Amino acid sequence: MKSRTLILSGTPVSPGLAMGAAYVFEDIFESNLRQYSIKPDEVDREFARIEDAITEVLKDLSTSASRVEKELESALADIFRAHAEMLRDAILAREIRNEVANELINAEHAVKRVFDRWEQKFRAIQSEDIEQRGSDVVDLGRRLLRSLAGVHVHSLEHMPDGCILMARALVPSDATFFSCRSTAGVVVETGGPGSHCALLTRQLGIPGLAQVSGLLDRVKTGDLVLLDGLRGTVTLKPDANAVARFRKRIATYRASAARDRTHSHEPAVTADGVRIQVMANIGNRHDAEMAAENGADGIGLYRIEVFYLARKMLPTEDELFDEISNTIAPLKDKPVCVRLLDTGGDKSLPYLHIPEESDPFLGRRGVRLLLEYPELLNAQLRALLRVAQTHDLQIIVPMVTVPQDMESVRQALEKAQQDLGFTHAPRLGAMIETPAAALCAHDIAAVSDSLNVGTNDLTQYTMAASRENPLVSAYFIDDHPAILRLLGLIGRENGQTPVGICGELAGQTERVEAILGTGMRVLSVSPPLIPSVKAAVRSARVHHANPSGSKA
Ligand code: PEP
Ligand code: MG
Repeated sequence: MKSRTLILSGTPVSPGLAMGAAYVFEDIFESNLRQYSIKPDEVDREFARIEDAITEVLKDLSTSASRVEKELESALADIFRAHAEMLRDAILAREIRNEVANELINAEHAVKRVFDRWEQKFRAIQSEDIEQRGSDVVDLGRRLLRSLAGVHVHSLEHMPDGCILMARALVPSDATFFSCRSTAGVVVETGGPGSHCALLTRQLGIPGLAQVSGLLDRVKTGDLVLLDGLRGTVTLKPDANAVARFRKRIATYRASAARDRTHSHEPAVTADGVRIQVMANIGNRHDAEMAAENGADGIGLYRIEVFYLARKMLPTEDELFDEISNTIAPLKDKPVCVRLLDTGGDKSLPYLHIPEESDPFLGRRGVRLLLEYPELLNAQLRALLRVAQTHDLQIIVPMVTVPQDMESVRQALEKAQQDLGFTHAPRLGAMIETPAAALCAHDIAAVSDSLNVGTNDLTQYTMAASRENPLVSAYFIDDHPAILRLLGLIGRENGQTPVGICGELAGQTERVEAILGTGMRVLSVSPPLIPSVKAAVRSARVHHANPSGSKA
């Protein structure tokens, strides 16, 4: 009997369309391992095997770090260095040896048990960040098991060019293999917009889809699949009609992407003559390079937490200065908005040792946390003040709820400016991400140099639906009339203060006209989207757009 076409849905994490053979990534952690009991006189032999494996993995990690540093970026390389540190930790090695000696089991079995335990410990903690440490542990365990099994090549190394990678999840070491071969796209069962899968696929400009449940039960290596990173679907066993339609869509998509790119360095002016700034959201140097190549008018949102998250300890003022200067360098003479550390909520930094809160999304996030940790804030303000002496820079304050938040940060900025003896200070903009800030935009505009609407958070707080929880994703509607009405209010109530939007909604080309109709004049989007968003601006008419934003 002929098998039926099956369409699975997920969360699109990187745009684009791809058609190709599936490559199912076998996880050594989940496959059958050699597990057996040993005799007491065999313990030393297993200890020696563990030692050899650790030595080999440490060498391997250092090679991966140099490779990634050369081909991708230094923040990712730091992850491999952190893994090496974890592996050098005497506690871990002792725990594996104890398992062998006490349970009389072989090295593979002991490694699997210890790493499973460590992973579970991390995963049990309800924090995306610490959960990420769980992935790091899996990554390290995999490397040790591979070495013990005598597998010296990563199985992704065998992936033929042009395949669509299907995996349960991707871990950092997979990055090394992506960087040097042409993968058409990636689909994973887990992860989300902030996962390694999202990070890698966006960096490489290939389509990516996350949170596709039941994927690996339904697909095998070699199956033809259609990956739609725009609508968020993957089609398995497509029939001839579906393939033909998809080929047409790919051709149209490529032609329009190529057309858009030819004009991407020109200004974006609407059909009725309004100049719109199309800026880029970035997290690292690579994103900034892509933004410059794609004709960004500047950086609308630089998320510096990406730098903090890749580290094991707080950066110093000098380290921040170096990192920020280096990251924004590709944008030479263009304006750059750097957001102060937006941590708390889902993005906590383990090394800050901040007490856990029962409801972190409604707790001390963004500016609330910064104001309570003046040293954390001050290091950033001083580094940014220094960068601002040579670059057109604006500082953005995350999670503003009341005007007092802006006034407090401005006081701290003025104090830092005085301490450094500078005459020039950067402008200070507010992120509008809470319904309170949107409804009272007028009052916040009075104490801010710009309003930057973060529709991702504004949506989750307005629709009462977490941006991370797939169970309520049906309620997370960022172009809902409620959101567009709030945008309209911000656009009307901003006085003379410039307003822009930097949430994911800004990148939805079919909503660009409605967004501009609300009064937004800056759209900040992920770098690969700049050409298509500029094209959408050129065909939009601002003055006829429906300002309430409701779908006419
Ligand atoms: C937003 O909330 O829309 C935003 C741009 O900030 P982040 O996604 O970093 O929370
Ligand atoms: Mg936000």
